[in-house]
Amino acid sequence: MAFELPQLPYAHDALEPHIDAKTMEIHHGKHHAGYTTKLNAALEGSGMESDSIEDILKNMDMNNGALRNNGGGYYNHCLFWETMAPSAGGNPSGELAATIDSAFGSFDSFKEAFSNAAATRFGSGWAWLCVQKGGKVEVCSSANQDNPLMPGIGCGGTPILGIDVWEHAYYLNYQNRRPDYIAAFFNVVNWDKVGELFEQNK
Ligand code: MN
Repeated sequence: MAFELPQLPYAHDALEPHIDAKTMEIHHGKHHAGYTTKLNAALEGSGMESDSIEDILKNMDMNNGALRNNGGGYYNHCLFWETMAPSAGGNPSGELAATIDSAFGSFDSFKEAFSNAAATRFGSGWAWLCVQKGGKVEVCSSANQDNPLMPGIGCGGTPILGIDVWEHAYYLNYQNRRPDYIAAFFNVVNWDKVGELFEQNK
């Protein structure tokens, strides 16, 4: 069964002013759609057509460029859309909040570590908050469409929050001001969803 581009869970303009409608329209409708089509093409005849995207990433042959780039691109953007929401932001709650506090010292220190990972990722890539089996949380970054589920990438574990720092994610609104985009991102993080992913993958 072929992978399908998921619907955005909100309108294109729902994350304004932090992420503008035009960026969302192109990012979802062109970039994510492109990764989806090319992932399906890369899977044809591979014997992995009916595997979950998580299994495809975990068992990735890192020399298979088409599958690596488009499998990562497909998964990363699915996670990105669902961990943002309009009128979100704020702070995590419950066990995730306590885990972040204990791993980083405070929520503000976590934000600093995550922002720093996103700002210092040279060129295109992502910064992540990941949970390991056993419940430990870590921050890392990865290049291009790589993802910590893939062998040897970043801190490993399961990503529960990611920020896309490709220029296509912010250039229309922020041009070269990546740090401003990163700061604005925290206004649209859907901590309820991140908390659910933490519970499911800890
Ligand atoms: Mn992107």
